[in-house]
Amino acid sequence: MTETGQPRLAHWADNAPYTGAGDRTAPVTDPATGQVTGRVLLATSQDAHAVIRSAKAAFPAWRDASLARRTAVLFRFRELLNERKQELAEIITSEHGKVLSDALGEVTRGQEVVEFACGMPHLLKGGFTENASTGVDAFSVRQPLGVVGVISPFNFPAMVPMWFFPLAIAAGNTVVLKPSEKDPSSALWLARLWAEAGLPDGVFNVLQGDATAVDALLDDPSVKAVSFVGSTPVAQHVYARGTANGKRVQALGGAKNHALVLPDADLDVAADAMVNAGFGSAGERCMAISAVVAVGGVGDELVAKIAERAAALRTGDGTRGCDMGPLVTAAHRDRVASYVEQAEMDGAEVVVDGRTVRPDGGDGGFWLGPTLLDGVGVGMSCYTDEIFGPVLSVLRVDTYDEALELINASPYGNGTAIFTNDGGAARRFRNEVEVGMVGINVPIPVPMAYYSFGGWKSSLFGDTHAHGVEGVYFFTRAKAVTSRWPDPSHGGINLGFPQNA
Ligand code: NAD
Repeated sequence: MTETGQPRLAHWADNAPYTGAGDRTAPVTDPATGQVTGRVLLATSQDAHAVIRSAKAAFPAWRDASLARRTAVLFRFRELLNERKQELAEIITSEHGKVLSDALGEVTRGQEVVEFACGMPHLLKGGFTENASTGVDAFSVRQPLGVVGVISPFNFPAMVPMWFFPLAIAAGNTVVLKPSEKDPSSALWLARLWAEAGLPDGVFNVLQGDATAVDALLDDPSVKAVSFVGSTPVAQHVYARGTANGKRVQALGGAKNHALVLPDADLDVAADAMVNAGFGSAGERCMAISAVVAVGGVGDELVAKIAERAAALRTGDGTRGCDMGPLVTAAHRDRVASYVEQAEMDGAEVVVDGRTVRPDGGDGGFWLGPTLLDGVGVGMSCYTDEIFGPVLSVLRVDTYDEALELINASPYGNGTAIFTNDGGAARRFRNEVEVGMVGINVPIPVPMAYYSFGGWKSSLFGDTHAHGVEGVYFFTRAKAVTSRWPDPSHGGINLGFPQNA
């Protein structure tokens, strides 16, 4: 507790809270009321190295634990998570602001990765070749790396960490999770759940903090790999510094996702999808649709349909059954609103204005309602920048080719979607578009746990995507073994280069 009676959110090491030596803290706020609900510790680099040491000490025994033992813990974690996910969803809503149903959806998508990781014995199977040469067998195994760091953003405080740590732990690594300082409690809740599931001390640890904690993870030689998710500039920094220090890094960055609506699309289906994907979680999703590209004259009808739906949404406290919650902080709300002001000055039409919203929530909440901008041009900052709020921009073009060119010119390539009833057009789009995750009449095409998640271009730095088989590869390294057991017929000394015989 702090002097003012607010909870002090500590680090977590060796299955217990750890306060470290540093005294820097940051406020944690309920975005629906604006009230400070706690203070989170911000690690010094010494604190970070101490938490990393716990993870390092735990590695040899966890690496050597049998797959049966490791997956038994994972199964227990899955069962506890499934029983108690409502608790976790309430924590997410209280610090992030997203509505409860959305928070529950986030936990469920994370749980799917835990379920995938329960199949680790199958995923780690290597190959075996008998008699590659006479009396020689060849085989491959995949082994864990050691301590791995996971650095996560504010917008999915449970799901994004769960894209990584179930696979890392199941594969035999130990983990240091650095959650966002804006909503740090979910990570601690997950840590307690691991302890209850029987995970040995030091296998899953939480390091609270900001850039100091991140840089310590990137610099500490005991950390062998880092999975990062956040904005593009920070992803670039993490990738450059981590790889310069010889680490394996996957750094998932920002996004600007387009939805292309062709003239033959069902416009009611498309409008529903734009509203769900544009305003769900107040637009604070890396797979949110933020730019709608209306092709060949569908613009007027589509904008009218989206506007009607957006205006009917209820913005308010996420615990009250509203459609959309507040933004995460006051500063972020003001930043998003400033893009709407600038768009107006740049000549866009504000069709639905979230700045005038009357929320069902506290006066101090960080409110901005759904906002629809029409007549947006490619030079406007509301189009070029990642806004990360409930602002949907509509651009109009004449042809499919123009739409494709526009999408492919974006520096980001996280997600995209096409709305059409023409299978040939959809097929062409999924083939030609330079984006990592594509939806066909599906607005937020987040891959299932057994596929891998990741964008192209400035939306991902590194070679491997998150979860799925690529996640297993990221958290393990391959070893190829060639073995001969001499039998009485072995041929004695031969200095020649080994050849198949
Ligand atoms: P952020 O980049 O501000 O923070 C992400 C993490 O980096 C946090 O843990 C934060 O503490 C840390 N951090 C912040 N500044 C840092 C610095 N200068 N040096 C080192 N570490 C630093 O991102 P955010 O605002 O928390 O999250 C929103 C962003 O994340 C958006 O850009 C969104 O598109 C992106 N995101 C991407 C994906 C994806 O899969 N590509 C998924 C979710 C979110």
